[in-house]
Amino acid sequence: MFRTHTNGELTLKNLNEKVTLSGWVQTIRDKGFMVWIDLRDRYGITQLVFDADRTSAEILENAKKLGREFVIQAEGTVIERASKNPKIPTGEIEILVEKLTILNSAELPPFTIEDETDGGEELRMKYRYLDIRRNPVKDKLIFRHKMAQKVRNYLSDKGFIEVETPVLIKSTPEGARDFVVPSRMNQGQFYALPQSPQTFKQLLMVGGMDRYFQIVKCFRDEDLRADRQPEFTQIDCEMAFVEQEDVLEIFEGMTAHLLKDITGKEFGKFPRMTFDEAMKTYGNDKPDIRFGMKFVEVNELVKGKDFKIFDEAELVVGINVEGCADYTRKQIDELIDWVKRPQIGASGMVWIKFQNDGVVTSSVNKFYSEEDLKKIAEKFGAKEGDLMLLMSGNANKVRTQLSALRMELGNRLGLRKGDEFAPLWVIDFPLLEWDEETGRYHAMHHPFTSPKPEDVHLLETEPGKARANAYDMVLNGNEIGGGSVRIFNKELQSKMFDLLGFSKEEAEAQFGFLMNAFKFGAPPHAGLAFGFDRLVAILDGNEVIRDYIAFPKNNSGRDVMIDAPSPIHNEQLNELALKVNLKS
Ligand code: ASP
Repeated sequence: MFRTHTNGELTLKNLNEKVTLSGWVQTIRDKGFMVWIDLRDRYGITQLVFDADRTSAEILENAKKLGREFVIQAEGTVIERASKNPKIPTGEIEILVEKLTILNSAELPPFTIEDETDGGEELRMKYRYLDIRRNPVKDKLIFRHKMAQKVRNYLSDKGFIEVETPVLIKSTPEGARDFVVPSRMNQGQFYALPQSPQTFKQLLMVGGMDRYFQIVKCFRDEDLRADRQPEFTQIDCEMAFVEQEDVLEIFEGMTAHLLKDITGKEFGKFPRMTFDEAMKTYGNDKPDIRFGMKFVEVNELVKGKDFKIFDEAELVVGINVEGCADYTRKQIDELIDWVKRPQIGASGMVWIKFQNDGVVTSSVNKFYSEEDLKKIAEKFGAKEGDLMLLMSGNANKVRTQLSALRMELGNRLGLRKGDEFAPLWVIDFPLLEWDEETGRYHAMHHPFTSPKPEDVHLLETEPGKARANAYDMVLNGNEIGGGSVRIFNKELQSKMFDLLGFSKEEAEAQFGFLMNAFKFGAPPHAGLAFGFDRLVAILDGNEVIRDYIAFPKNNSGRDVMIDAPSPIHNEQLNELALKVNLKS
């Protein structure tokens, strides 16, 4: 037996017991006549003590030869510690070692394997297996496991069946580029890795599975914006004979169940907001509603006062930053510079202060009397001590810019607390999105999303105005899940492909299998998928998804530990009938 106990469980209750422990040497303190070792495993740390007086000189000598991260086995007796460590569960005892076995030696690790480490990100990723020995990383993986268990149990209890779908498939358009895999047996042909199991889960509904879920890897070859991973995990779900309401209810229940587990609180019904409302009030389809600063549109109050910038703007909109009227000139200028950065791209910003002495003043006093400003302040619901920040321009652009400012202020003012959770549904998304670059419509969600029945007629006249039965679950300013009621009628599906610019032949070649299935009695169905990595990160009060993935890729899509991607041998290329033609 390698161990009788783990390193996290012995306490004074075990006093005088003979035990065997195994693990890694975290630290060694050598006082000459005595040596102490912190022995680590997944469960914790137990202190070992080697003492020539109480055991043997030979053991003490052997202990001195150990190095950090050696894998050892120690047999001994549980004794009470002289100087106790109240910070760890095993802090009141230590093991007086009577037998020591070195199971494996270790080279000096490239960084210290403790909660606080001296290793930079890149180095820790290269030696991720060492990083995983550290509590901050290990605990996140355990948290992820617990959440996955909860999800599985919840959905199983509700009658969902976990079905695996293939990884070598044909392209599923979800807005990203596919990763492709060349086929050796079918030369010149390629599989695509699923961007999601979308079409398969729909086929499972045609197959009568009724309630499906899968915790599944998805692959999207996108330029990696901050904190995206080319392969990520979804909780993918689909239900038959349901309407939007049924889906919202089940998955609101699932999320509330997870949230209750973490916070102990009941979450009840999640608020709902239409896409239009979200854009108008927060400039964003994934609003963080943990804090206010809702958008206030003031066109009618600011136009016609000879202030050209506002007169010419499509939209003048602002936020009220409570309690910040005492911002200095310098602080405000810094915010103005912040919104003018190319990433945000605003041309400027106007401020109005409702001072503590009741005076309302602004950066545009030349154009607006105090009475004008007071009216604006009133519309904002501002009170003494508040600072209003206004931006103007093209409606869509200015909303996006103001939204970025709102989130930045939310961060700076500490309003985005990791241990507070504010979930909501955003519903009624537009069905289509016009893409200037390609000059055609794209599916806002994906091509299988059903228009709202009352908007179907718009597909003939003004497709851009049609709304979809599509919904996103948003948590703390992040989209954690999204889905839709599906088209289950082959004529409507074919119309959709048409609108998206697929020719009959292309649609047939790419989605013939789905259209075919729809000929054989497809039930009404709907579903959604959660981004599991992000969900877990947010539930754990964090936003960095990489930390919750055992072996993540870096921003260039590389796994620096296994050094992938990498070239393959000529033989492999030949077998696949492929030739690499690098652009220099
Ligand atoms: N397949 C969709 C996605 O990955 C989710 C869904 O519509 O169920 O976003």
